[in-house]
Amino acid sequence: MPPSRTPALPLALYDFSNTSQIVVLFTRDLGKVRGLAKGAKRATGSFQGGFDLGAVYEVTLIEKTEGLDLLTKAEMTEGFPGLRRNLAALEAAFYVLELAAELTVEHDPQPEFWQATVDTLRLLDKWAPRDIVLFAFEAAAMRQHGFMPRVDDCAVCGRPLPPRPAFSPRFGGALCTVCAPMDPGARAVSAGGLKMMARLAEGTIPLQSLNVDGRVGKDLRAAFDLFWLNLFGRELRSARFVR
Ligand SMILES: [Zn+2]
Repeated sequence: MPPSRTPALPLALYDFSNTSQIVVLFTRDLGKVRGLAKGAKRATGSFQGGFDLGAVYEVTLIEKTEGLDLLTKAEMTEGFPGLRRNLAALEAAFYVLELAAELTVEHDPQPEFWQATVDTLRLLDKWAPRDIVLFAFEAAAMRQHGFMPRVDDCAVCGRPLPPRPAFSPRFGGALCTVCAPMDPGARAVSAGGLKMMARLAEGTIPLQSLNVDGRVGKDLRAAFDLFWLNLFGRELRSARFVR
C-alpha cells in the first residue's frame, strides 16, 4: 500500500523502547489510527523529537492490514502554545481529546468532527471562554454523530414540557411530568438550557452572543455529563477538570 499523508491530532502516546513511540492519532483522512513511530524521540530524524499531545501534525504513514500502522514522518503544523500557558485551557483541551478518542473509530474518517475538534483547540489556545467553547464542541459532536436529543417537546409522548423538564439521554431527550418517572436517572434541567443545547448543536449562533453564567451553565454541564455517561457507560476521566 502506498504511504498516506494526512493532518493528525495525537490522542494518546506510549513510549516504546528507548527512542520510539506508539501513537494513537485522530487523522482527518483515515479516522483513528494506531501507529509505531520508530526513533521518534531522536532529536534529529523524521519526527523532530517525537509527538506531543495538544498539537496538530502532518503525518505520513503506511497502513498495515494487521497490527500497528507504520508512521514514517511527522511535522508539527500547529503547536497551540497558548494551551501551555493556561492550565484551565490545557485541561479543557484534554477533555476535548478524550471525547474525540471515545467518539472515533479506527479507519473510519469523520472529517467534519476532525475539523470541529481542531477548531475547538484553536479557540482554547486563544483562551476563548472555556465553558462556551466546550458546550459548543459537545453539542456539535452530538449532532455530527446523530445523537441529537429531542428538546422541544416530550421525547416519549410529545406533550409540552414543564419549565424544568427531566433530561433523559436514555429516552432520547426531555421528558414531560407524566413520562419523567420512566427514567429514575433523568435529571431536571431548565427548558432554556436544553433549547440552548439544541441551538449550539445547529452551530448557527455566534458564540460571543452566548451567556452561560449561573444556572444555564450549571444545567448544560449536568446535561452533557449525563449524556456522555449514558453513551459511554462511565464518566470521562477528564470530566472533573471542566466542572
Ligand atoms: Zn411525555
